[in-house]
Amino acid sequence: MKQEPRTAESTLDKDDLIVVTGAGGFIGGALTRRFHGQGFARIRAIDKKPLIDWYQKVPGVESLCLDVSERNNCVRACEGAVEVYNLAADMGGMGFIERFRVECLRSILINTHMLEAAYRAGARRYFFSSSACVYNTDLQKDPNVRALKESDAYPAMAERGYGWEKLLSEMFCQEYWAERGLETHFARFHNAYGPHGTWDGGREKAPAAICRKVIEAKDTGKHQIIIWGADGTRTRSFMYIDDCVKGIDLIMHCDDLIATPINLGTSELVSVDELVSIIENIGGVKLKRTYDPNAPKGVAGRNSDNTMIKRILNWEPGTRLRDGLAVTYAWIEQQYFDRKAGKRTVRDTW
Ligand code: NAD
Repeated sequence: MKQEPRTAESTLDKDDLIVVTGAGGFIGGALTRRFHGQGFARIRAIDKKPLIDWYQKVPGVESLCLDVSERNNCVRACEGAVEVYNLAADMGGMGFIERFRVECLRSILINTHMLEAAYRAGARRYFFSSSACVYNTDLQKDPNVRALKESDAYPAMAERGYGWEKLLSEMFCQEYWAERGLETHFARFHNAYGPHGTWDGGREKAPAAICRKVIEAKDTGKHQIIIWGADGTRTRSFMYIDDCVKGIDLIMHCDDLIATPINLGTSELVSVDELVSIIENIGGVKLKRTYDPNAPKGVAGRNSDNTMIKRILNWEPGTRLRDGLAVTYAWIEQQYFDRKAGKRTVRDTW
């Protein structure tokens, strides 16, 4: 019989210090909330955004505004840490990563300094958030893609800028384990979505952007939608945030996944058109579609091969897209009307 996978809860003491960077953002915020909800008493949450702009602030958590691309701030961040989760990166959807390659590449400083600081602080484990953008883009030219398996990153032809930064940071993690014995883990996230994520401002990803557009169309009575790309045939898979943070926890505490790449995503492939239809259906509306061939579009198709995660963890992200989107849509709708009423909402400025 397979053993239950280990987690922070089953591995750590409740007063062991957990450090999360990027905690003012989407996934870091959700991870902080998970650990806090499990009763961990010492969590240090870090982000370079001023505290007032954090997407979630978890009461009782030490929350620091620090730029972890600076070496000294990383030393401060990792002081006394038992586990370090590095979720900080300058990133966004295709609209951001195709336009701001320098910013994406500069995130290399974050992981470089954080790894060294975690190592020097004597941390027991270190997690790095990698991405499916490390995969060879030549394998992603067809919407009917074969799902990507972990060995498909090499020979390397990653997404220019963002993907290369992630691939090199993975290598850093592997060498810190091989040469210095720091236990590192990393996962290649496929698109994550859910409440408390960016939904406007330019960094948002397709699910949030389409929810917002549908809500806006309903509110204004202009029943039309502009969709990025020459047509709606591009395909992706989308992972609900609760699955994402559970996966991070499982991967971090698995001895078979030390310094080993693994996909963290769903294998439920949908086209952009299908995604729009699901969200229209949730919103109870049908819109006239116009396509923008000049907008950023990314690779033609991308899906996650989950053979390895199922074999090793006996688990894979399982939230159905329709279910996760319904919760996300409701949250974005609330945000939309809160903003309209002049209330403070989640919004990125850049
Ligand atoms: P996010 O933008 O919501 O959060 C990232 C946070 O990092 C932001 O709050 C930002 O202010 C912070 N940050 C950036 N530079 C920093 C610095 N120098 N010092 C301190 N904080 C800094 O993004 P997210 O969706 O939560 O992504 C988290 C991680 O997961 C990132 O590494 C990202 O590349 C990776 N990832 C996310 C997805 C996804 O679908 N969301 C997919 C693949 C990989």
